[in-house]
Amino acid sequence: MLTLPARAGERFDTVVRDLHVNGYSSVADAVTRLQAADDRPGAEAPLAKRHRYYAALGEFASFDLERKPSLSAAAREALEHLEAMAAREDCRSCTLDARMTRARLAFSRRDTDEAARILAGVDATGASAEQLLRLHLLRGRQYRQQGLFAQGVAEVVPAMELARRLGYIADRIVALNLLTTFNGYLGDYARAEAYGREAYALGERIGSRRLMTESQLNLGFTYSLSGQTQRQLQAYLRGLERAGDAPDTAANRIVLLSNLADYWLRKEDYRQALDYARSAEALALQMDDALGLMFSRTNAGVARAHLGDVDGGISNVREAIAIAERKGMPVDVIGVTQELAGILEFAGRYREALAELRKLESLQREVTRQERDKAVLELQERYSAEKRQREIEQLAATNRVKEAQLSVQAWQRRLWAALALALALAAVVLVQWLKRVRSANRRLSDDVAVLAEQSTHDPLTDAFNRRQGHNLLARHAEALRAAAPGEPPALGLVLLDIDFFKHINDTYGHAAGDQVLVEVVKRLRGLLRMQDAVVRWGGEEFLLLLPNVQAGALPMLAGRMLHALADVPVAVGGAAVTVTASAGCVASPFGSTADFESLVQLADLALYRAKLSGRNQAVCVGGATPDLDAAALGQNLVAASTAGKLVLEIVTGPLGPRHAGGEESQEAAPIGTF
Ligand code: GH3
Ligand code: MG
Ligand code: MG
Repeated sequence: MLTLPARAGERFDTVVRDLHVNGYSSVADAVTRLQAADDRPGAEAPLAKRHRYYAALGEFASFDLERKPSLSAAAREALEHLEAMAAREDCRSCTLDARMTRARLAFSRRDTDEAARILAGVDATGASAEQLLRLHLLRGRQYRQQGLFAQGVAEVVPAMELARRLGYIADRIVALNLLTTFNGYLGDYARAEAYGREAYALGERIGSRRLMTESQLNLGFTYSLSGQTQRQLQAYLRGLERAGDAPDTAANRIVLLSNLADYWLRKEDYRQALDYARSAEALALQMDDALGLMFSRTNAGVARAHLGDVDGGISNVREAIAIAERKGMPVDVIGVTQELAGILEFAGRYREALAELRKLESLQREVTRQERDKAVLELQERYSAEKRQREIEQLAATNRVKEAQLSVQAWQRRLWAALALALALAAVVLVQWLKRVRSANRRLSDDVAVLAEQSTHDPLTDAFNRRQGHNLLARHAEALRAAAPGEPPALGLVLLDIDFFKHINDTYGHAAGDQVLVEVVKRLRGLLRMQDAVVRWGGEEFLLLLPNVQAGALPMLAGRMLHALADVPVAVGGAAVTVTASAGCVASPFGSTADFESLVQLADLALYRAKLSGRNQAVCVGGATPDLDAAALGQNLVAASTAGKLVLEIVTGPLGPRHAGGEESQEAAPIGTF
């Protein structure tokens, strides 16, 4: 550890730099070192020097007042000096540091709204690189608290760059840790992991237990989101080991222990879960950490109930509910009550479980209402302040009445928009919190995005599911209706079915068949553009939607698909399976057809022709006469092509027609005049 408590003979500029480069073992140490600096500036020191000193003091002293109330005097002193310098000595950039200190104080009180308001009002013109770095990190902290992860990334990436430029390794780690969390929540696990690993390596380099612990905690969280449970466990254990008993790691140790308890609950190893929950509980009691206590009691309660001590478990969980109620955390009350209902149900005490569920329902309604009321009140306050201001102006200049009314209307519009947003957020927050109960930092893991994903995607291949396929077709039909006459948007459709797939299942097993399906989608995706959609239309049948692809381009594209599938065998288990497919393709506009479902049927007819004439080929339908309606075409493609109403083009795959293991399921029928 490079940071030591007050050392004699240190200059404060050196201390500040060292804190940013090498970090500190505790904020209290950081503050003590600053205060003990040899050249701590007095009232007569030059403005610039006092500014630097109090900005740094404000930064460290106000960082975590909730856990370090002893620093509040230093934080207040810094704030007073910064504000006085801003007011009396015309120090503009002192204002910025004063604001940032105030924002940190608000964070310390867990008043994110207030912090956000302060940060929104900050003017950063002419700010130094150090100040910009602080500002970006603070806004990153704000977005993490608010659950606005994409904004968080946009805010913290520049912070990471600034820290790199300044050589401030400790700040770089803070930025990387934030980015790990953001990317985890956003579902970009690879990136989250890369950031987490970089943060950990840097933490190791400067020997900061605190930052190493935090990196492992974040990495573990990322692994839990991506379902890599073995690595999740390792990360949490390594985090604990790195934390040792360093002073500022206690809060993270509580979270790590809670997450480990949660991990074992999920693995249904209730003995281990209980051990970790008890360790978390002891530490939380020692640190007077109410949130940690609530989580650990809940975990302990669930574990005990499953170990047979249902009454003991229930009383633990009830204690957790009482803590949440005392602390005024209604969302946590809901979450823990849900756990309670779960235990009661597990114990077969259905009547009591039902009573808890009823309570849950009314609690949820109450929380939603409170969120809504809070948003409305806040907006009305701003609205009436604005209105009062306008009224004063109206008295002074009656000709501006119209303008004022317009502004009021604008505010009303904003009020409604914000209200809608607040409602949506309240719902999202509720769903998210409900899911996080047992794990202190699991908060937003199974959020709404996952549910949305599940309702539109096929879980095996991650292609769109058939329902979403119909939605996408309906959207294209809509676009077609809305398009200007003479400029219909093109949409290529390819219906592709794997040949003799049943044979693959029968020969290599169902799991191998699944692997083939996944690989087929992967290969198709590799060929397609961002805007193209792969829909799993049936068991081994896929519909491809290709916006802006015209009929003329389809045969070549279909040929490339057949090659992409058959050129290289798919490796399943130890075997290499050659996969071919047959396809039917058609594109809109097609004659006078306005109905995409009938176009898909046409593609299906074409696919049938491809199967019939030996498989491993695509039959593409094009050249429709202007009045031809696919819906009215009937079953006979060949007759229509002979009558000159359309043109059929056949593209063969790389291996020529094939048959499955000698089994001839359908004869290669003559296909007439294509
Ligand atoms: P053809 O060339 O005529 O298309 O022959 P085929 O064997 O591919 O077609 P058929 O429709 O007779 O069989 C499709 C098989 O696909 C039957 C079904 O068990 C299998 N299947 C459907 N969904 C899945 C899945 O999710 N996984 C696996 N492994 N098999 C599936
Ligand atoms: Mg098939
Ligand atoms: Mg099929």
